[in-house]
Amino acid sequence: MLRVTEIFRSIQGESTHAGRPCAFVRLTGCPMRCVWCDSEYTFTGGEHMSTDDVLAQVRAMDCKLVEVTGGEPLAQREALSLITRLCDADYEVLIETGGYVSTENVDERAKLILDVKCPASGEAERNHWPNLERLRADRDEIKFVIVDHADWTYARDVIARYDLERRAHAILVSPVWGQTDLPALADLVAASGLEKVRMQMQLHKMIWGADVHGV
Ligand code: SF4
Repeated sequence: MLRVTEIFRSIQGESTHAGRPCAFVRLTGCPMRCVWCDSEYTFTGGEHMSTDDVLAQVRAMDCKLVEVTGGEPLAQREALSLITRLCDADYEVLIETGGYVSTENVDERAKLILDVKCPASGEAERNHWPNLERLRADRDEIKFVIVDHADWTYARDVIARYDLERRAHAILVSPVWGQTDLPALADLVAASGLEKVRMQMQLHKMIWGADVHGV
């Protein structure tokens, strides 16, 4: 059984897939506690559902793009079989993962959007670095949520140390809603000299607001 916070259809709000129609499966629970987390409502509760029931709800949404997210989706062992069954059913599958749990056993057909936690998150010590060595340049994206200049410096160091310009399909730089100095971050990205970096806003929050769930 899976513990599921919500299943809904919306547009993809982030990554290079932003703006596309997407079905979301948001699993319950996360072992991390990022200080700026916008998904704390996923930490507890949720509904127990079989993989078959989740697949039936996804099928009813008629979207070929499906994101499995959380919380931390990979913290539930059964998530791996859900991902494989979605891939078997020919969905394009995105996994949004916080970077603490190993991605080693994720079905290779799924596309990863892997967070690296920066210092202001309070969870940078828990990054699972071998995940970065498994990135595939034709599909996997890496995301840094940036609060301040110290986070940006940290991200630059990780990008260089793990050769992410070569390893990743895209390097996503996200501000924290309402906390990051946006023009300052845009200036840093513009002057970075990096080819695969892109600053992204969270489209769903711009459309529906920061506190609305299920969109
Ligand atoms: S990993 Fe994601 S869900 Fe978990 S605490 Fe951090 S931001 Fe929240």
